[in-house]
Amino acid sequence: MRIRRKLVAGNWKMNGSRASIKQLLNGILDQNTESGCEIAVFPPVVFLPMVQEMLLSTRIGLGAQNIDSHVQGAFTGEVSASMVAEFGCTYVLIGHSERRAYYAETDDIVSEKFSACVASGLRPVLCVGETLEQRQKGLTEEIVKHQLQMVLDNCGIGTFAEAIIAYEPVWAIGTGMSASPRQAEEVHALIRDVMMQEDSGIGQQIRLLYGGSVSPESASKLFAEENIDGALVGGASLNAADFLKISQLAGH
Ligand code: PEP
Repeated sequence: MRIRRKLVAGNWKMNGSRASIKQLLNGILDQNTESGCEIAVFPPVVFLPMVQEMLLSTRIGLGAQNIDSHVQGAFTGEVSASMVAEFGCTYVLIGHSERRAYYAETDDIVSEKFSACVASGLRPVLCVGETLEQRQKGLTEEIVKHQLQMVLDNCGIGTFAEAIIAYEPVWAIGTGMSASPRQAEEVHALIRDVMMQEDSGIGQQIRLLYGGSVSPESASKLFAEENIDGALVGGASLNAADFLKISQLAGH
């Protein structure tokens, strides 16, 4: 029996203004009829205080898109886990492919950020996924297992008790070309297997999100798969109606 409650997380990336984010969030709050799934949004960091306030007494969760691995100190421009926690975050995206590719985040840095997140009582959403070239060379399994194993080895399985894993094939992000439900499920089953081998309890309950051009059209078939426990949504999360439609599909 499946007991994992689905999560639909909206990664707003570096988009929006004070006005447009208010409008987007009001759109989500106005139309949000209770669905069975959990919803969380990940605004740009400067908007966290405003979004935190708007989400008070709602059931929508809040997350940060990134944190620094250090607790505090001379790290100009960076923001720590405890800082985002103070502004109501319960989740943090860790190792998003855009951070790996554009900000040179290695598996070691990803592991340090994962640890910092857990140490502050936050729930990491660890992103893993292969590039198109890696998939075409038949390396998907190896790459995803390696990204996951690095964090497992560096941080320990115990740190995954409250974590979430997002499988995000790089070739599917922002391209409009979602992985097929079968392609996604193959990798999700593999991730579940790796986690089950480490700890059957954690492996069974950890939520595995799929991310990569999820849309209202593609969502329901993805959510029907055994090991897909929700979605990490980029582009479609910037449209209140689309984001809510995806969450409703996850709730059924
Ligand atoms: C993402 O950025 O995590 C993502 C999945 O983006 P998109 O939905 O736009 O592909």
